[in-house]
Amino acid sequence: MKNELIKLIKNSKSTYYNFPVVAILECMDGTLFKGVNIETSSPAAGTCAERCAIYSAIANGYDKKDFKALHIMSASCEIVYPCMICRQTLLDYCPKYLDIVLYDADSDNIIHTTIDELTPHSFSKEDL
Ligand SMILES: [Zn+2]
Repeated sequence: MKNELIKLIKNSKSTYYNFPVVAILECMDGTLFKGVNIETSSPAAGTCAERCAIYSAIANGYDKKDFKALHIMSASCEIVYPCMICRQTLLDYCPKYLDIVLYDADSDNIIHTTIDELTPHSFSKEDL
């Protein structure tokens, strides 16, 4: 999967902060939904690679029950974790068992984490 992530970096639109991030949402049936961060001159108007991949899957008719793993990599730092907005999206639109795999672009270092690890004491649909 790391080779797919590396190929995806060229699609990132990171002209403002020069912080390219890519993500691939892997589904149970083997379908891959790719995402890149898209920065804009107004930071709030851009989006992260993680949400780009998740929203693409949803737009194509896939649902949380179909999601197997989310692979994430930045070309600018060793390991990048999802931001808090993406963590809320993960909590609301992905299954608890989702394998979140974080890659270091410059080494073989890989970290596996979960939504529960990323969102302790979270607020979700069950709280409404
Ligand atoms: Zn994010």
